[in-house]
Amino acid sequence: MRIGKEDMDKPINRTIKVVEVKGGHREVGAQIGEACQQEIHHSIESARDLVNALADDLRINWNRAIIQARKYLPFVQDAYPQYLEELYGIAEGSRSSFEDVFTLNAFEGIVMDRLHLSKCTSLAVNQQRTEKQKVLVAHNEDWFPNDEEDVYLVKIVTDDEPPFLAMNYGGLLPNIGFNEAGIAQCCDTVYPVEKRVGIPRVVVGRAVLGARTISEAIQRAISPHRAAGYNHLIVHESGELYNVEVSANNFALLYDDCGYLAHTNHYLSPKMQAIEEDPDQLIGSHVRYSRALRMLKETENHTVNSLQKIQRDHMNYPCSICCHATEFENPFDREKTIAALVMDLSEKVMVMAWGNPCRNLYYSFAL
Ligand SMILES: [Zn+2]
Repeated sequence: MRIGKEDMDKPINRTIKVVEVKGGHREVGAQIGEACQQEIHHSIESARDLVNALADDLRINWNRAIIQARKYLPFVQDAYPQYLEELYGIAEGSRSSFEDVFTLNAFEGIVMDRLHLSKCTSLAVNQQRTEKQKVLVAHNEDWFPNDEEDVYLVKIVTDDEPPFLAMNYGGLLPNIGFNEAGIAQCCDTVYPVEKRVGIPRVVVGRAVLGARTISEAIQRAISPHRAAGYNHLIVHESGELYNVEVSANNFALLYDDCGYLAHTNHYLSPKMQAIEEDPDQLIGSHVRYSRALRMLKETENHTVNSLQKIQRDHMNYPCSICCHATEFENPFDREKTIAALVMDLSEKVMVMAWGNPCRNLYYSFAL
């Protein structure tokens, strides 16, 4: 594998597109669709090309994925019709087919569960571990390199939820962000053996961003009839920190009492480890987790800068916290950090770098 160290010397000064939308759920979806048409089309094309290129290995192609996705639709209609409206809006506004948009949002259940990728590092520190009694939450979003082009920020104001600011890409429903009620969420892919046709993970993640209290956020992360689950790192501005590890039928709550939490892509609770699929495929996730934890423990005076230092870390390169694993032969093995963000819940501000944070400057965005 070629190590692209030379690329790291060139800082990139790329701003991030911010889309501000307001209205009913269908309207905000349509406004996102209109504003991000190019990103949405590109994300659908990337997913379609990826699946079709590996159709033999995956035993599925995009057309069959669309048929599979239809099975998930009634569960969303039943539990969260408002987010289905957002998806219809995204399709209408971007002039995309609804089936393509919906399949993209059910992609992990249909396609990704056949694979073993790593993806994402999340961190949180509260008053016990920060310099100015702050509550800070950080997330590196690691995904297919093609989706880096499709990253944007959304500020969503709907009629019936607290306004929120979230990082998003392509035609997905937003998952990673914080809301005016002081709830922040980061999602990390996990690999349970238990999964089923149900509410896709991305829809569950979107629902958490609409919560007004931490118990409501956790309740939404474990929505009945969910297809599988993420780890949801859920933080309240008061400094309450939870990892909510979820599968289709089980969950575990990991509560912090030391002032910090981290999560990557393997289960931490023994209960969930018992239902982890092929844990021997997740060593990279363990290595990132240990590294993040060690760096979190280095100081009791964390700042936005000290968390950014963790986000830029290259130990175990290219499968480091700042991920550069773009040179693997199989396109499904290729991943990189496509966005890095730190949320300051005390100030209700997000600082975010597009792409790898070792190369890109962070910009600040207020809710
Ligand atoms: Zn890097």
